[in-house]
Amino acid sequence: MSKVVVVGSANLDLGVGVPHLPRPGETVLGSDVVASPGGKGANQAVAAHRLGADTLLVAALGADRFGVDLRTALEREGLPLEQVVTRDGAATGIALIVVDATGENTIVVAPGANAHLDGAALTGLPALLGPGDVVVLQLEIPLETCVAAARHARRAGARVLLNAAPLPPAGSGALSELLREVDVLVVNEGEAQQLGGDATALRHRGPAACVITLGARGAISADPTGTRTHPPFRVDAVDTTGAGDSFCGALAAALAAGSDLDQAVRRGCAAGALATTRMGAQSAMPTATELDLLLA
Ligand code: ADP
Repeated sequence: MSKVVVVGSANLDLGVGVPHLPRPGETVLGSDVVASPGGKGANQAVAAHRLGADTLLVAALGADRFGVDLRTALEREGLPLEQVVTRDGAATGIALIVVDATGENTIVVAPGANAHLDGAALTGLPALLGPGDVVVLQLEIPLETCVAAARHARRAGARVLLNAAPLPPAGSGALSELLREVDVLVVNEGEAQQLGGDATALRHRGPAACVITLGARGAISADPTGTRTHPPFRVDAVDTTGAGDSFCGALAAALAAGSDLDQAVRRGCAAGALATTRMGAQSAMPTATELDLLLA
């Protein structure tokens, strides 16, 4: 079976519910804080793993209590953690997540150890990768590390899936360099707008396939065979945190299992929808049974 290898961030999410998102300068009283494991890399790895993919996570934690807690949580998921390093002197990444009554959110990330996930953390990667594997990247770790991981993947005959989020400031040459090493690009509507193009235009920047996720409206995909719209699955959304990560994990798992892009995007849409029906990010990722039930 082909593997999903996620190279990315691991954060502790500190979530709080509010009646409405605060405007600049405004203070809003919120609910009790809920601490839960997060980070786009760890979220996508958990999503793929829960859906039955043979999944590996390459990530960096800080040498603090939060790092120990995150490692324990990921271990409980059953994810292999040999490639998760602890960086002395660095703090574990933290995400401050505020969710309003409609499920809309704002997120601030303090990267900590994620910013120290460098090329040295990838030395074990070439031996782990083979043809057909899917290497999944996001942008909460240094861009140069993503470029290096993508090159390792390509040399091994593995495919590269990039979820280009969060986007660096405009004009980043390293992002253009990375896009040329990508097979499947996934962005949400806002990110597509920032990158300045629809799915077809974004393909011209390097990726053979591009998927734009549209929240409650589903997704659009483009590959050499054309452009397609993918309808959403209707659910009662309570918290959209992690929807995109659930989508990417499911997409990667399906591609590794041999699905074509259309089938994989459909599974991504179903997994994204299910993740919105529960609070939290990692904890909200659906199981294979739940996904199959929605797809039946
Ligand atoms: P992100 O979290 O990265 O902004 P989106 O909000 O576009 O990503 O969500 C990713 C995918 O999850 C969407 O393409 C869609 O299939 C699914 N999804 C997200 N929100 C909803 C929703 N309210 N109802 C149904 N599906 C949803």
